[in-house]
Amino acid sequence: MQCPFCSKPDTKVIDSRLVSEGAQVRRRRECVVCGERFTTYESAELLMPRLIKSDGSREPFNQEKLASGLLKALEKRPVNMEQVEAAIDHIKHNLRVTGEREVPSRIVGELVMNELKALDPVAFVRFASVYRSFQDVSEFRVEIDRLEKTKS
Ligand SMILES: [Zn+2]
Repeated sequence: MQCPFCSKPDTKVIDSRLVSEGAQVRRRRECVVCGERFTTYESAELLMPRLIKSDGSREPFNQEKLASGLLKALEKRPVNMEQVEAAIDHIKHNLRVTGEREVPSRIVGELVMNELKALDPVAFVRFASVYRSFQDVSEFRVEIDRLEKTKS
């Protein structure tokens, strides 16, 4: 790695340790030419894929939007912020492990529904009813029946 002080290409690692609970490697480096020391942090590059909307346009993943959708569905429900944050982490993890640079935005919707299904059935139905924009009441009824069946 290039020395940031003298720009010579040769530096050596003099110390290396895991930080951020193992998510990063901190390396202390020393320039073999000028002797200056500096620190680098290395972590795996796991970018969130961009979302392909139904009209074909692309938009960046937006965690705030995801959180507000979840919180809206969970309004006045017995689910705490830690559970909501864990759900957001699961969703982000699932999006990253696709390894895709772009995924259809409906995948996010499906992931949200999976999380809500596990968290709170009322919130799940609330979200599903909006998300899937049920065409009529009977379709909505089918969803509730299916939910009740999987619960028992
Ligand atoms: Zn140097």
